[in-house]
Amino acid sequence: MTRMLAIAAGGALGAVLRYWTSTAVHARLGMAFPYGTLLVNVLGSLLMGFLYIWLLERVTEGTALRAFLRADPDVIMIGEMRDKETAEAGVEASLTGHLVFSTLHTNSAAETVTRLLDLGIDPVSFSDAFLGVMAQRLVRTLCDKCKQPYTPDEEELTLIRRYYGEEQFSELKVNPAKLTLQKAVGCPECNNTGYRGRTGIHELLVSSHAMKDLIYHKATAGEIQKLSITEGMRTLMQDGIAKMLKGQTDLAQIRKVAIT
Ligand SMILES: [Zn+2]
Repeated sequence: MTRMLAIAAGGALGAVLRYWTSTAVHARLGMAFPYGTLLVNVLGSLLMGFLYIWLLERVTEGTALRAFLRADPDVIMIGEMRDKETAEAGVEASLTGHLVFSTLHTNSAAETVTRLLDLGIDPVSFSDAFLGVMAQRLVRTLCDKCKQPYTPDEEELTLIRRYYGEEQFSELKVNPAKLTLQKAVGCPECNNTGYRGRTGIHELLVSSHAMKDLIYHKATAGEIQKLSITEGMRTLMQDGIAKMLKGQTDLAQIRKVAIT
């Protein structure tokens, strides 16, 4: 079966910009398509088995999506779900057996669900179609050449434990008395900033019967977040702290992006 991936986007410039916001979704598609094919696809899309669609001004993403569903693609990627029509078309496509990926700008995975419901899509169809949401933020990575180990003081330790959640902190299997973290220093390699590159922190909210039930009843983001954590999700903050304990970043960076 020929695999086809379609991107709906508003105008050529919008499409190019959205390649960047959609990178994470393409990375998820790595199962079916080798990661790294994204950028060559700008010019060589058809050769690589992808079909990209650029839209004229007066055609919306939802209209285009309905039109190219006739080509019966296996995987559909919608650049961004910004309006009810696009979101509904995505849900419909999903319910008719297509694997649909999209992006949304929200603060957390749980808020993504409520944002889509707020757009006005039918909670019954949406709860049926929903597979999961991955939220992603980028934090600056500590420079490998100059970062320095230090022992956090009591105040910082308390903060870390509180951010991670007292009852879950033990799962990190760290001995607070022997904890060593890394801090930014600065060297010529990193232009004296102490940081070099970016590290992704993520939270993955996965569908379940209980989750579908919450969506069906239009639950709040707080209720969705609470259930997903009891079902095993680790939040952006928790993933950030786990990466900080590995020496990849520091608490200041995580606080910038993970406190909402
Ligand atoms: Zn450095």
